[in-house]
Amino acid sequence: VDEFDIIRRYFMPAVTRRADVVAGIGDDAALLSVPAGHELVVCTDTLVSGVHFPRHTPAAAIGHKALAVNLSDLAAMGAQPAWATLALTLPDADPRWLEDFAHGLLALAQRFDVELVGGDTTRGPLTVTVTAQGLVRHGMALRRRGARVGDRVYVTGTLGDAGLALRLQERASAHLQARLDYPEPRIEAGQALCGFATAAIDISDGLLADLAHLLASDRLGAIVEIDALPRSAAFLEVHETPGAGAQPAYYELPLSAGDDYELCFTVPPAHSTAVEQRLEHAGCAATAIGEITDTPGIRCVRANGSGYTPVARGFLHFGEDQHG
Ligand code: ADP
Ligand code: MG
Repeated sequence: VDEFDIIRRYFMPAVTRRADVVAGIGDDAALLSVPAGHELVVCTDTLVSGVHFPRHTPAAAIGHKALAVNLSDLAAMGAQPAWATLALTLPDADPRWLEDFAHGLLALAQRFDVELVGGDTTRGPLTVTVTAQGLVRHGMALRRRGARVGDRVYVTGTLGDAGLALRLQERASAHLQARLDYPEPRIEAGQALCGFATAAIDISDGLLADLAHLLASDRLGAIVEIDALPRSAAFLEVHETPGAGAQPAYYELPLSAGDDYELCFTVPPAHSTAVEQRLEHAGCAATAIGEITDTPGIRCVRANGSGYTPVARGFLHFGEDQHG
């Protein structure tokens, strides 16, 4: 099957059209007009079958997730998504699989007004690379660097659901499975934080690992109140059901399991009420989970004040971790 045939048949009919695309799929390269006063925000993420998703993952979920993880990076920068390209490596051109994959990817693209403007199609082990581009007003992007001592640490949504779904496998409830397969990029939340949050990151590798990225460059630390971590009703239900099979690690999954794609961000106390109102207006739940300190490292504390040492290694003393 000719590669352009695949694109024409499965992708082009459902592609969102934007007025700022001078040339999209079909030319040698995409030609895009960037509005004055804005900066272009660009990110790429690759999903490899058997590495980033289990081999039996539905094609629609792979399509959704390949774009969603990129939109999540744009969200963490406070950007408005605009365009995407897709490098698709396929073992064969299975029409049913392609149709589902395209639907999963393009349905999400449509929701965020993203136009698929090009890509590349090759034969090989299933690998999906999306490059997404977004726009942010000049100088307004959220960055990883910028947290200050005394800032409150927040996360959007709930943590640990995707990790629990992976652990439970076919015994995961539909809600937990959807949190793993169909992550929701926090685009509106990211934009609501521009000009208010001092630093932001999306949680792809687990809260402790990603929070450490917010701290490392400024030699800061954080206290995380682990009883305050937001957990979903579906998560708590598994936690509270005796004999439900694999129990969630009540602290470990929200702290260390990846794949949540929530935002973690820091806010000066004077801005916290404004931020909470802006996020509520954006329709996104957010929870204060701790505070930035001047003692490098992440210290986990329970509600009763006692310390907790995460089982997952390498995070508590991230300074050491970074140098060896
Ligand atoms: P070239 O050989 O010049 O790189 P191709 O034949 O690879 O062109 O692609 C033809 C057109 O189809 C290009 O506009 C390219 O961006 C687009 N395209 C190819 N593969 C994909 C894909 N997987 N998703 C979206 N567009 C694609
Ligand atoms: Mg090509």
